[in-house]
Amino acid sequence: MTRTAIITGSTSGIGLGIAEAFAAEGFNIMLNGFGDAAEIEETRARLDKKSAGEVGYHGADMTKPEEIEHLVLQTQERFGAVDILVNNAGIQFVGPVEDFPLEKWDAIIAINMSSAFHTIRAALPAMKERGFGRIINIASAHGLVASPFKSAYVTAKHGVVGLTKTVALEAAEHGVTVNAVCPGYVLTPLVESQIPDTAKARGITEEEVKRDVLLAAQPTKQFVTVEQLSALCVFLSTEAAASITGASLPVDGGWVAQ
Ligand code: NAD
Repeated sequence: MTRTAIITGSTSGIGLGIAEAFAAEGFNIMLNGFGDAAEIEETRARLDKKSAGEVGYHGADMTKPEEIEHLVLQTQERFGAVDILVNNAGIQFVGPVEDFPLEKWDAIIAINMSSAFHTIRAALPAMKERGFGRIINIASAHGLVASPFKSAYVTAKHGVVGLTKTVALEAAEHGVTVNAVCPGYVLTPLVESQIPDTAKARGITEEEVKRDVLLAAQPTKQFVTVEQLSALCVFLSTEAAASITGASLPVDGGWVAQ
């Protein structure tokens, strides 16, 4: 039986890497995320060719609950079920809390936290009915510890960890596992784009941000890779991972051990 996965925010970075890994496993995939339409179609077609399953795309905006519900319903209609739900879409904004723009706060809470509530709310009933489901929330090391100047992001990611635990308990007797993956720093467009703001907020150079801020937190002194995160997501979707639920799994080079 071909399993079906929705991966939010899969046109770039970690989400795209997870889609690549699920395609290699032969899943049906519903991609989601923003970007240039021609580039997205090129990605969809490439993954469709790579996977034994089919790959579609839905452009739901993760700030819009009705579009999120449509993403889930359309995936269920097209493929018959949603077996794996990866809540990955996310944005970042860095700045002191007293200057934090209201619209950035609202957008980060909506995209990084509330969208996971909306996808889960739409997908969980059918998962429970079928007695199988894997919900993987891409949280962050910032779901477990804080850093200055990231009030909205840290709040949203801590919220995702709380949502993960709560839904794991509600779904535990129905064959549905719910886990949070908590990456340290991965060099994706999201991280690249916050380097200048962090440099400004701290009054240091961009090279110093990489060395003294980002990798300072990671005892391995290595960025986490998209491939390492994707492999964990594939494992969490297997039968072997059936007893892992409600967990927040750091993939952070030792960051939160400190
Ligand atoms: P990215 O910027 O490369 O990708 C983000 C994806 O989310 C893109 O596909 C984008 O189009 C999509 N997206 C943004 N706003 C959206 C919206 N309103 N509706 C639908 N899609 C939207 O970022 P990334 O680094 O790959 O981050 C992916 C996830 O991993 C995020 O939740 C992020 O918080 C988390 N994370 C990243 C890092 C890191 O170091 N890169 C570390 C920990 C956690």
